[in-house]
Amino acid sequence: MADTELMQIPGHIDPLPVPREVTPREDGRIDLIGLPRTRIAELFEQAGLDTKQAKLRSRQVFHWLYHRGITQFEAMTDIAKTMRPWLEERFVVGRPDVVEAQHSTDGTRKWLLRTADGHDFEMVFIPDADRGTLCVSSQVGCTLNCRFCHTGTMRLVRNLTAGEIVAQVMLARDALGEWPKGRMDGLETDESENRYSSDGRLLTNIVMMGMGEPLYNFDNVRDALKLVMDGHGLALSRRRITLSTSGIVPLMIRAGEEIGVNLAVSLHAVTKEVRDEIVPINKKYGIEELLEACAAYPRASNSRRITFEYVMLKDMNDSDDDARELVRLLRKYKLPAKVNLIPFNPWPGAPYECSEPERIRRFSEIIFESGISAPVRTPRGRDIDAACGQLKTAAEKKSRAELERLWAEKQAALD
Ligand code: SAH
Ligand code: SF4
Repeated sequence: MADTELMQIPGHIDPLPVPREVTPREDGRIDLIGLPRTRIAELFEQAGLDTKQAKLRSRQVFHWLYHRGITQFEAMTDIAKTMRPWLEERFVVGRPDVVEAQHSTDGTRKWLLRTADGHDFEMVFIPDADRGTLCVSSQVGCTLNCRFCHTGTMRLVRNLTAGEIVAQVMLARDALGEWPKGRMDGLETDESENRYSSDGRLLTNIVMMGMGEPLYNFDNVRDALKLVMDGHGLALSRRRITLSTSGIVPLMIRAGEEIGVNLAVSLHAVTKEVRDEIVPINKKYGIEELLEACAAYPRASNSRRITFEYVMLKDMNDSDDDARELVRLLRKYKLPAKVNLIPFNPWPGAPYECSEPERIRRFSEIIFESGISAPVRTPRGRDIDAACGQLKTAAEKKSRAELERLWAEKQAALD
């Protein structure tokens, strides 16, 4: 990745390696996915429609895109036949290309996806008895380098656009056959006649826990999730969406105010020494500062608790004292909290091992005894490298020496 050099971005937030720009489509057409309806109307107007027409057409097109999952203008049957080629010439309804689709023995599915300009990233679907969760990526690679995470061994290639983020959800609906199957003859179709009902669908929840740090791609993640939550868009409740961050403190309050979804925080350690090593962004935003930001997170409450993710690493962060300290910290900041204990998922060359089952059980027990819920997450999709922290595109596989160089580079960006 010779063109992803380490540079300081000017401004108040952070030093970040400068990601690549999105390469525009060769045919010059504009992808409508990811744009708010008002922006689509503006584009239609710029392309020559009068204001009233532009508004009407944007409303119709938006409905076809997000309620019907239609990708061809030709199928938009309430739009005049002559108008459809006009749209086709100027616009496109994007989906990332599917390079590979894998199925785990436990039902988990993983897709290797490719952007229109040729970058690979992954998306995972995890079906459970009472819900189906889609794990969505926000970046190709990651600027951060949590020691236990496979994605952290990649450079940040580029941020995904809002369109590429929301299109993951749409692609999952395509793959799961979850668009309404009703008559395709216009907006007047009564949706209650077909299978389009929230309880009939497999995809019920979204977690921003795929590749990347969502808060380092703030605007695109926000815009994408707005379309996911929009009643005229994909219409998923904000209560069913969770954003996971490694703890980018200055952006957490903004996330609460501007996005308002559930928050998950990758805590993983309770002392500065250990967290500095395994989640190096801790050197910049320490534990106390992070927990203060959690306490100030808008709308957090007992019915909307913050999830603290804690990866179980043998002899690193898994002692009884660690568990007690975790309880003390969560109490000190009066956090409406639940703890998710994640058994470490191994990957080739990883410098850690997973804690023993008995150790994890005891750790969980200590937290439960204090009245805080601390379930142990069952790893899903390990056989296809789809579990937490195993995502990493094959094109990025590196030698040991290359890995070491990359660690040093990413560490230097934080110092
Ligand atoms: N960048 C965000 C979201 C993506 S990672 C974040 O760090 O929160 C999703 C979760 O998987 C995080 O809690 C992350 O710490 C955890 N994780 C990463 N690597 C893992 C591994 N090898 N085993 C178990 N969990 C891991
Ligand atoms: Fe990036 Fe999250 Fe992995 Fe850390 S755990 S390297 S923030 S994807």
